[in-house]
Amino acid sequence: MLVEPTAHEINPETGAMSGASGHYEKKLRDLEGLYADAAAFETHVIEQGDSVVYQVDEMRPAQVAGDLIFGTTWMRPGRIGEEFFMTRGHIHARGNRPETYYGESGAGLMLMENPEGETRIVEITPQVMVYVPPLWIHRSVNTGAVPLVMSFCYPSDSGQNYDIIARSGGMATRIFANADGWKAIPNTSYRKRTKDEVAAVYATCD
Ligand code: ZN
Repeated sequence: MLVEPTAHEINPETGAMSGASGHYEKKLRDLEGLYADAAAFETHVIEQGDSVVYQVDEMRPAQVAGDLIFGTTWMRPGRIGEEFFMTRGHIHARGNRPETYYGESGAGLMLMENPEGETRIVEITPQVMVYVPPLWIHRSVNTGAVPLVMSFCYPSDSGQNYDIIARSGGMATRIFANADGWKAIPNTSYRKRTKDEVAAVYATCD
């Protein structure tokens, strides 16, 4: 049976998308363990409460291969110590599924890492389309002083694997504030994936 075409209005400031079929949010406590400075994290939660860091409006027309999931993500500005707020990050469970992100408002970046552990960083600002190719772990970071709002689109059978980041002690690179805005620094807790672990990631492609 044919699905009816739809149009969805996106508010570039709030990220609200009309006709969304789903909504979820992540609070600070959901992101525990992600940040380098655990003490600063606790202080932040105690002082400012367990507030929402990012939220997603999404549309999942049908859960069948070949369809798309699209929506918006809104992330508030802030830091834990000098480290900027970020999403939890993931690789697609089917590794060879790509994704696009489009800047609606604010300023941030897409932090990406391949299975071998190489990092790529792409800045995202309004009217910039970012392509996350297959097999890249990806996480967005709000490096600005206002909310970062992006719209996204990916194949509906992608799935998300969050565990790949936790197993390596985080992503290889962290994003900290400095006088120029932001800087990339090595994550001292990072453990490179073994040959077998890299092969297991490639084995998720179909
Ligand atoms: Zn993704």
